Amino acid sequence: MITISKTKSGRGLKDAVEKITGANLSMCLQCKKCSSGCAVAKLTNSRPSEIMRQLHLGAGNELLESDIIWTCVSCETCSARCPMGIDVAAVMDALKKLALEKGASKQQGNVALFNKAFLKTVEVFGRTYEMAMIAAYKLGTGKFMNDTEKFPTMLMKGKISLFPSLRGDRKTVKRIFRKTAGRKESGQ
Ligand code: SF4
Ligand code: SF4
Repeated sequence: MITISKTKSGRGLKDAVEKITGANLSMCLQCKKCSSGCAVAKLTNSRPSEIMRQLHLGAGNELLESDIIWTCVSCETCSARCPMGIDVAAVMDALKKLALEKGASKQQGNVALFNKAFLKTVEVFGRTYEMAMIAAYKLGTGKFMNDTEKFPTMLMKGKISLFPSLRGDRKTVKRIFRKTAGRKESGQ
């Protein structure tokens, strides 16, 4: 349960999220189709439609404490189901970004670290490379032996590779990262 304390402007995070996503959050009609299809809604304290409502009502930084921001798996079901065409998954991403920027989030476990490790390997290798991601994550947590029991089986079944794939389009991916970094710096 989140208590909404309105900011002075009364618009809270809504403007920032709308600026990042380009979405008009006032279009939300609270049909809850996003929540009913959400892959993680049963695991979290708040649902996507509640986040949308809270944004609309002028919630401030306390919204960045919501566990769904870090539990969201970016499956985009919510965006696909929204009858108003609101990209709800992008709203979740925007809230992640704001939570990191404002240092206001009670992140769930090490999700932010995992996120960073994942993106870094995509940036460097042009696509996911699990071994590098696991190494970066383990270095970050310092828990080297946690969750290692399934590793040999995954390796044997080819679910994880020791070496990075050469199929990634590194040049294009790097260009995308450079472009988004430039946008971040200029505040777009
Ligand atoms: S993108 Fe996130 S919020 Fe949307 S349905 Fe998937 S898990 Fe839920
Ligand atoms: S599906 Fe769209 S309109 Fe319906 S509650 Fe979710 S965001 Fe609002």
